[in-house]
Amino acid sequence: MLRPLSSARLQFTSRFWRHSQRHVHHKHPIQPPHHVQSLAFSSTPARRFDSLMDTTNFTETQLTVRSAIATLCSKFPPSYWQHHDATETDPTDFHAALAADGWLGIALPESLGGSGLGISEATIMMQTIAESGAGMAGAQAIHANVYATQPLAKFGRREQVEETIPRIVDGTWRTCFGVTEPNAGLDTLRLSTTATRTQDGSAYAISGQKIWITCAQVARKMILLARTKAREEVGKPSEALSLFCIDLDRNSPGLSMRKIRKMGGRAVDANEVFFDNYVVPSSALIGEEGQGFKIILHGMNAERCLLAGEALGLGYAALNRAAKYARERVVFERPIGMNQGIAHPLADAYMKLEAAKLATYHAAQLYDASTTDPSIKQDAVGIAANSAKYVAAEAAFTACERAVLTHGGMGYAAEYDVERWLRECFVPRIAPVSREMVLNFMSEKVLGLPRSY
Ligand SMILES: Cc1cc2nc3c(=O)[nH]c(=O)nc-3n(C[C@H](O)[C@H](O)[C@H](O)COP(=O)(O)OP(=O)(O)OC[C@H]3O[C@@H](n4cnc5c(N)ncnc54)[C@H](O)[C@@H]3O)c2cc1C
Repeated sequence: MLRPLSSARLQFTSRFWRHSQRHVHHKHPIQPPHHVQSLAFSSTPARRFDSLMDTTNFTETQLTVRSAIATLCSKFPPSYWQHHDATETDPTDFHAALAADGWLGIALPESLGGSGLGISEATIMMQTIAESGAGMAGAQAIHANVYATQPLAKFGRREQVEETIPRIVDGTWRTCFGVTEPNAGLDTLRLSTTATRTQDGSAYAISGQKIWITCAQVARKMILLARTKAREEVGKPSEALSLFCIDLDRNSPGLSMRKIRKMGGRAVDANEVFFDNYVVPSSALIGEEGQGFKIILHGMNAERCLLAGEALGLGYAALNRAAKYARERVVFERPIGMNQGIAHPLADAYMKLEAAKLATYHAAQLYDASTTDPSIKQDAVGIAANSAKYVAAEAAFTACERAVLTHGGMGYAAEYDVERWLRECFVPRIAPVSREMVLNFMSEKVLGLPRSY
């Protein structure tokens, strides 16, 4: 089995990746330089599990990641996820297995125990997890540990980062991401959870409520966005928010949480989290006070790329199952896939997924290139990442819906997995940003239409 931190191969590819990054040609950020192109691009498909995805033009590093993750995930077959979905129990051993092999630090610096790879590699990792049959539940069990640690690694104080990140990477601690609030919704700048400095300045008292916080029940840490100033006290509303990395200490006063019963991804918990003068040390602040929104924006495009990858994985898993069933199921003395009414929607779903795949890995590559190439504007990354998340989520929905319908009555049976994946495929359509807000963003930023929100 390939191990990301210990295998010679990934150490090679990790070093190789850094080498290739150093040589990115700034005028043409999307194209790797020729010597990298000839070395890194491969047309050899890495089909460690039955995948319909065309893997031409993925880099050797991405294919190595995909292959190793597929091997690891094969120990957690769909029956494992059916069980955890039905019993609403956390896939603790799955998280532990990924941590043990070093995968949670895939996009974190090596100095902090990570692999020093990029969002392109993290995206294919998340896709492969979802595609293995783990679906959104598997992805969400580790997702925040992969991306919410990015702003911490970049903007946190040295001691804060050194204390926290290695423990998240090795799986000792889990983290969750606390942004959404019931009364603010997508209008994040109106969030009302406050972090008020105590008189001696040594601590903050947090009061307010977060909602939909994934994995809060099992997390030791939360990356929290909270208000440190009233809106009217600052020039820009964004300057009133600050980011924290706080302990979720259930024994301390002022912290409570309640699980939300939900449609899908039931293996992972989603929660309302209540703070009532919950005290955290002032050292929990990430970066400067008032810079939290800016800092979090940094991680948002990365998160959209990961979500796009997760949606793709779900879509390909569903499509693969549907095609197999359409080949095997015989009704009216012929395979149902012989009927164009069954075949064409599946062919349509395939092309939508392939198109979304191109958008997704374009966005991830642009994101990675932008970290070293200042000529790539964050607006361009934002447009690519939002487009990718949108089209991948829609393509996943198309594939999951068709997979259920292809299975007829059996599509409704838990044993066939496709109903679970259909329930889960709504997540990337809603979160971390809804379809409507992506459309608002494109209307304004690309089409130059008046801002509507
Ligand atoms: C399974 C799951 C897991 C999640 N995990 C996390 C997590 O770990 N951490 C976290 O912080 N959050 C999490 N979320 C929250 C998620 O990011 C939000 O649900 C999402 O951003 C939508 O916000 P909202 O639910 O408040 O919708 P609202 O803001 O209430 O919007 C409701 C609807 O109105 C539409 N709408 C609102 N304003 C406009 C407008 N101006 N124009 C057009 N349409 C508009 C929206 O698009 C949406 O369809 C999770 C959500 C889910 C479902």
